[in-house]
Amino acid sequence: MSRKADIQALQNTQFDLLIIGGGVTGAGIALDAATRGLKVALVEKSDYASGTSSKSTKLIHGGLRYLKQFEISLVREVGRERAIVHDIAPHLVRPKKMLLPITQDGSFSKFTTGIALWVYDYLAGVKGQDKRKMLNKEETERKEPLLEKTKLKAGGYYAEYRTDDARLTLALLHTARDNGAICQNYVAAQKFIYDDNHIINGLIAIDNEKNQEFTIRAHHIVNATGPWVDELRELDNTAADDRLFLSKGIHIVLPHNRLPVQQALYFDVGDKRMIFAIPRLECTYIGTTDTEYVDDLDEIHILKEEVAYLLAATNKMFPSAQLTISDVQSSWAGLRPLIREKGKSAGEISRKDELFIANSGLINIAGGKLTGYRKMAEKVVDKVLQSSKGTFLPIQTEDLLLKGAPLHGEKGIKSLYESLNQKIKALKLPPITATYLLENYGTDASHILETITEFTPDNEVNLALIRAEAKYCIEKEQARTLLDFYSRRTGRLYFNIDSIEKSKDIILQDFACALDLDAFSQMQQIEALQAAVETATCFS
Ligand code: FAD
Repeated sequence: MSRKADIQALQNTQFDLLIIGGGVTGAGIALDAATRGLKVALVEKSDYASGTSSKSTKLIHGGLRYLKQFEISLVREVGRERAIVHDIAPHLVRPKKMLLPITQDGSFSKFTTGIALWVYDYLAGVKGQDKRKMLNKEETERKEPLLEKTKLKAGGYYAEYRTDDARLTLALLHTARDNGAICQNYVAAQKFIYDDNHIINGLIAIDNEKNQEFTIRAHHIVNATGPWVDELRELDNTAADDRLFLSKGIHIVLPHNRLPVQQALYFDVGDKRMIFAIPRLECTYIGTTDTEYVDDLDEIHILKEEVAYLLAATNKMFPSAQLTISDVQSSWAGLRPLIREKGKSAGEISRKDELFIANSGLINIAGGKLTGYRKMAEKVVDKVLQSSKGTFLPIQTEDLLLKGAPLHGEKGIKSLYESLNQKIKALKLPPITATYLLENYGTDASHILETITEFTPDNEVNLALIRAEAKYCIEKEQARTLLDFYSRRTGRLYFNIDSIEKSKDIILQDFACALDLDAFSQMQQIEALQAAVETATCFS
């Protein structure tokens, strides 16, 4: 019912701003614009965050590597932004200490690392306990006993933040909807509509579930389609040249007991690249690569050689692990929508964002980072307001809590964790569930746990929890398919892939019942889920 009503509203409203693309960039713009008083619509051709915004390293970070490229203003801006995003969504943006081992054959010395981390902290305004510490060899070994010891010289220990990119995008959209934005997934931009002066003023969209076209009218249209930005510019006939350079990055996921690191690490690979090893729930994930990509944007596959590259680098740093490809339990690959710079390779191109407005009035935004989504949104909405009539509020997003954020920051997180933990114990769920629920749903986790009893009479408690989550995601987060649920809503496709096989049949029934799916749609959903599991686990 809600989808039907939303699509009717999309057809019947004259919007101030229409955003194409439901990744973090589009979601951030929707929230900023809606909270300043604009009438906002957002359409996403597939599921929210199904593009790059569920395929990142999942860090809200100041970008230490940008310091190496002397991008001081970028480091300063994203450094400050990470503190803001932590304050407005402390459940989704968790502080994590990062260890940077310094080795004999690495590209950093203790001296340069010490200065770089000091500058990094200074630019980001890091205070107190979070400030960087330089460790000697023994201290570094104590922090991470798995490290290769013969070449280890010292370590840098500094503050970063870990997130879930897809959940962050969903929280932004949820908050935008709560503030009046109409957002709809599985609605694609097909064709632009122009006035007599060839200024863009609408869109022919297609409801991908029903294969039905309809029109949306808006004074301003933003192309926030990440890797697809040039495709949309072509639709607008304004793509004289490609503005984007797409860089592919992959991550692999291992069971934590196969690489039992005690904390997150950022280490030298030996070819001037650095990679992350990050513990998460009962896994450790490793990434990433950075190579030019020119293939199909909708079908990105991971190559065996890319997995081998990450495994070799990890085995070099943690020789006792002796990892092989059979240890990889899941993976993901994404495309960085970078702004092309002549003569530069993937690793050299700046991660800066850029806003470019076509003669038709189409506002294009690309580049940038998850971490800088708020500033990108501010830039776009400021531009829109310059030519909008009426009175609008100043920017609101600096201290507006996102959906699920508890009050009182880290204090609120602590008491929420304690209360979830008690409920988890009473329900006899595995202890790690408290962290999982807190970091996925924040305060809404309590609501999910309350509905679990609806399912426990028939199901054992782990399955009942998945069903309670599915109910929440369908009703509150516009989940439309099994893949939306197992991938973007719960991250199970990456961090708990075994739970899919055990639960998919009953979850399919729940989706079929809630969304009135016929037998053919059910079969399509199962096939799409199986294909995604295969893509995540089989490498060509
Ligand atoms: P996307 O998330 O790709 O969203 C664009 C959306 O537009 C897609 O969902 C797509 O389906 C939709 N779309 C396309 N065409 C249409 C159409 N015709 N109609 C409707 N919708 C359409 N940043 C960080 O800050 N921290 C990190 O740790 C980090 N790590 C990264 C690691 C990797 C490997 C990669 C690839 C990126 C990383 N980034 C990181 C960068 C960050 O992930 C991206 O900058 C960000 O996710 C881009 O978001 P977006 O919304 O612009 O694009």
